[in-house]
Amino acid sequence: MPTKELAPASLTPDTGRRAAIAAATRWPQGDASAGHAHVDSRLDNFFASDVFSARVMQKRLPKEDFKSLMQTIRSGKPLNPDVARTVAAAMKDWAIENGATHYCHWFQPLTGLTAEKHDALVIPDGQGGVLSAFGANDLVQGEPDASSFPSGGLRATFEARGYTAWDATSPAFLMRSEGAVVLCIPTAFVSWNGEALDKKTPLLRSIDALSHQAMRILKLFGTDKGVTRVNTTLGPEQEYFLVDANFFYSRPDLMTCGRTLFGAAPPKGQQLEDHYFGSIPQRVLAYMADVETALYRMGVPVKTRHNEVAPGQFELAPLFEDANVACDHQMLIMETLTRVAHRFGLKALLHEKPFAGINGSGKHNNWSMCTDTGVNLLDPQDQTHTNMQFLVFLCAVIAAVDTHADLLRTSVASAANDHRLGANEAPPAIMSIFLGDMLEDIINQIETGTPNRTLAGGALSLGARTLPDLPRHAGDRNRTSPFAFTGNKFEFRAVGSSATCAWPNTVINTIVAESLDRIATELEQAVGADRDAAKLHAAVWACLQKLVKQHKRVLFAGDNYAAAWHEEAVKRGMPNLKDSAEAIPVLRDAKVGALLTKYAVLSQDEVTSRANIQAEKFVKEVAIEAETAASMVRTMLAPAARAYQGQLAAVVTATKSAGADTTRAAANLKSLIEMVDELEAATDELEKKSAEHHAGGPDDHMRHYARHVRPVMARVRSAADALEKLVPANLWPLPTYKDLLFVK
Ligand code: ADP
Ligand code: MG
Repeated sequence: MPTKELAPASLTPDTGRRAAIAAATRWPQGDASAGHAHVDSRLDNFFASDVFSARVMQKRLPKEDFKSLMQTIRSGKPLNPDVARTVAAAMKDWAIENGATHYCHWFQPLTGLTAEKHDALVIPDGQGGVLSAFGANDLVQGEPDASSFPSGGLRATFEARGYTAWDATSPAFLMRSEGAVVLCIPTAFVSWNGEALDKKTPLLRSIDALSHQAMRILKLFGTDKGVTRVNTTLGPEQEYFLVDANFFYSRPDLMTCGRTLFGAAPPKGQQLEDHYFGSIPQRVLAYMADVETALYRMGVPVKTRHNEVAPGQFELAPLFEDANVACDHQMLIMETLTRVAHRFGLKALLHEKPFAGINGSGKHNNWSMCTDTGVNLLDPQDQTHTNMQFLVFLCAVIAAVDTHADLLRTSVASAANDHRLGANEAPPAIMSIFLGDMLEDIINQIETGTPNRTLAGGALSLGARTLPDLPRHAGDRNRTSPFAFTGNKFEFRAVGSSATCAWPNTVINTIVAESLDRIATELEQAVGADRDAAKLHAAVWACLQKLVKQHKRVLFAGDNYAAAWHEEAVKRGMPNLKDSAEAIPVLRDAKVGALLTKYAVLSQDEVTSRANIQAEKFVKEVAIEAETAASMVRTMLAPAARAYQGQLAAVVTATKSAGADTTRAAANLKSLIEMVDELEAATDELEKKSAEHHAGGPDDHMRHYARHVRPVMARVRSAADALEKLVPANLWPLPTYKDLLFVK
């Protein structure tokens, strides 16, 4: 196994960058897949081999029990307790046969990470044998101490009881990490009072809400035959950076905050755009292959890998799945990217903006709605203008995004994502929709009457006889749009790379459920009991025309980065919540509480708790950054700059004693002293601002950090970055952007 000795930089004999580069380029070049014991290269032999899948269950469960469990999984039928007993026994045997020693309830608390507490699957019986320590109760319910997880005021510190509840719809799996094998059971996490303390519970509730409303539409069109549920589908694309672990450990900012708080721009950044889709470096490819193998085994259908736009940036995308499973799998993707990296002497950075001036990382959230019979409700098909059902679902999404643009914006708000949204690389904070020429044309037709044409793409001739003609889409793509229709799904591009997808999808599902509810109510009334087709047609076109007129301001096909659009959006009355301090308080709006409670996605207390948690998280993250920045200046950067000042002073003295002209050396010294003074003065100010105590609630604290601490951090940074360009490389204590981005 290619393991490398990694020591924190402070412990290595030479902390300089030369030693770190030497170590980085010596990463072991042995068998990269050794960690996974030579898996069979035929995918079907090891794909999902560590998943307690339907296939495994069918083999191991009594027929009746298997059928009953599948009804729970596929149609949401309540779980039969007797079935839980046989499932637990089968799951335990299967796990132990596959090397597991422990099990855990795997859940997603509001920290934004996953949580797990491991218990042994068997315990000694005191007579030299073992007893099973895993039965139906252990499968169905766990009791982690809830008091150490964020509750946003839902629970007092002493109120500790919390429960995890088995989510049978997301398959259990084995997590392998070096020697350890743990049976992981996806669970929801709630408090003793039943309030959701996690990201999964509201997601599941929102899928139910959407399913219920979507079924009403299908009934109206008579397309509900055999359909029992409408699920939402999700295919999240994950961007990330890789840096050499030696450099990572030499940077307190990366270690503590996941992003660089300092760093002058390198001479070559991404100007040449030569990294995108470039050939993947050897070490990175070996790492990717290992990540993918680990993910395949856990049943995560990873499909795509490539270099991203920024140097050192990469992307991994799975095939889409039902949103609940896809969200769990997305957590596994982030965890696996992080876990496997150290084997290759790398560190994966999932932060939204690890490097200033270089593209940040997002998570494109591809979303659609699909019946449990496999019909994608956002598939426009050939004669789209006649496809009324599709147009209803499409207009429902348009109306939802327009009505709740502020909530949608909040769903992606975080301290980290603030650095990315609205920068010239990621969509702005204005939530608009891009449809493409074909759909936009139909929407315009609906506005003025009944549509009668669907634009066709035609063929693209490449002008060389040996190349085939390509079928051409009816419209181009728009990379700058936050919410773009891409053929048969919407792609929500504002989600941050380190975020869980669960909350943005909960919001999308809920706002679309509300739209569908409104539309269904209107159509049901218009059509009445006799379900007359002509009445339905007339009602649909009237309803869609009204929706288009009301909500078409949310459609935008131009350049979302352009300043002119931001002005135009204000004129259209669209919200532009520029950062978390503006976006997170939206959760406290009565309109948001009413929506989430109406569809039973969150209670009002749960909504308030989430607003508190998000604001507190923001404050803590920015406070940690401020403290890290100040301590790096005090203990690393200012001392380095002062040491250089000493060298320059000695030069001036020596020059003078040699009787030579000191004008230039003295001017250099003077300017350096001014720069270091500025660095220290800015740091004094940063410490003062971070320490300021102030009255008010979580939102006030958040505004304080956003408006008064962050600008001073920027001032400290610019002073430090200017010095980095001046202080001799052998004195500067941090690996540079060049090292971080280009040593692979
Ligand atoms: P592109 O964004 O370039 O069109 P793909 O077609 O490969 O790329 O899709 C990107 C992501 O969208 C993939 O994860 C894919 O599985 C996912 N996706 C495709 N169809 C759907 C769908 N109906 N619902 C949700 N996600 C989807
Ligand atoms: Mg995409």
